[in-house]
Amino acid sequence: MTWQARIDAALAAREASHSLRRRAVCDPARGGALVNEGVRYRNFSGNDYLGLSQHPQLIEAWQQGARTWGVGSGASGHVSGYSRAHQTLEEDLARWLGFDRALLFISGFAANQAVVAALMQAPDRILADRLSHASLLEAASHSPATLRRFAHNSPAALAALLDKPCDGLTLAFTEGVFSMDGDCAPLAALAPLTRNDNTLLMVDDAHGIGVLGREGRGSCDVAGIKPDLLLVTFGKAFGLSGAALLCSEPMAKYLLQTARHLIYSTAMPAAQAQALKAALTVIREGDELRARLERNIARFRAGAARLPLALADSQTAIQPLIVGENAAALALAQTLRERGLWVTAIRPPTVPPGTARLRLTISAAHQDDDIDALLEALYDGCR
Ligand SMILES: *Cc1c(COP(=O)(O)O)cnc(C)c1O
Repeated sequence: MTWQARIDAALAAREASHSLRRRAVCDPARGGALVNEGVRYRNFSGNDYLGLSQHPQLIEAWQQGARTWGVGSGASGHVSGYSRAHQTLEEDLARWLGFDRALLFISGFAANQAVVAALMQAPDRILADRLSHASLLEAASHSPATLRRFAHNSPAALAALLDKPCDGLTLAFTEGVFSMDGDCAPLAALAPLTRNDNTLLMVDDAHGIGVLGREGRGSCDVAGIKPDLLLVTFGKAFGLSGAALLCSEPMAKYLLQTARHLIYSTAMPAAQAQALKAALTVIREGDELRARLERNIARFRAGAARLPLALADSQTAIQPLIVGENAAALALAQTLRERGLWVTAIRPPTVPPGTARLRLTISAAHQDDDIDALLEALYDGCR
């Protein structure tokens, strides 16, 4: 088979199963909106849960940082790319979340890959919730360690796997809030199972940080647990991008020797670290933003209960509407698009086969009339 034949066949197969991915050009706009081909849409597909990507204090901090230090870090953090702004952001994050150390990464995807690659060896095992993010599952599939996925949100299933003999060490992995379903992991039940010297518990709280808990400290704060490793990402509620891994002092020291995504990759710009510090301040003082997000979620769920579609058991900003078949999900998304609403249909393999869905996301930036417009369009689209 030639390269051309291989690529053509892969594309044809995706086209036939309505799973060909396409990008659209979306320019962000204020008020939880975006502009595509000159048309303004209410955006119900982003992860900017608190609307911080448009926050004046963050924009000012980034601009001021750029004027002071320029726009690029110029090197890996191990060479000369680690500035005072990076250092103080790490210190602030560690103090806020109650860990010895925080290590900044360029993205959550890179952080998950780095953790698995740096920690896991041949006789080891990764026990991950079935619905764990692609960045973790992909890293695990490249790892010499064994990957076992446990039934979604089931402490009993994790306990059963932990009971099996293992010659190596164990990394247990779950998310705080699941990215496609919006439900929360039973962290208070999972954590005690992993309390032994051979097991690390890692929680990826990409969708909980900033939104849940006191001062937005996330899912672990709500559950009253402290995992061994906590991943927080900045592309969602923080409104920017990047990530931090919270851990103990020896773990940080070890990862600085071994995490190739830190060693061989350019550090985020100092200006971005400065903007992230501003985001952290807004988030800590953000009870009003979180209350507005909660009101918007409640307004959506109250209205959506009357739809002929299954509303998921989610109290978070992620509100999936399971449609079923790919073509039906795409058609409903298209109907909404014609009504000025930007919603994406999420299809397998991102979600299990037969559960194509509209992954609706609610933001504090939305107004009542945004939510109402979404509900009306859904009523009409489901008729
Ligand atoms: C978005 C996400 C990531 C990846 O984070 P990025 O910073 O966007 O690379 C990792 N884990 C989960 C659960 C996510 O939702």
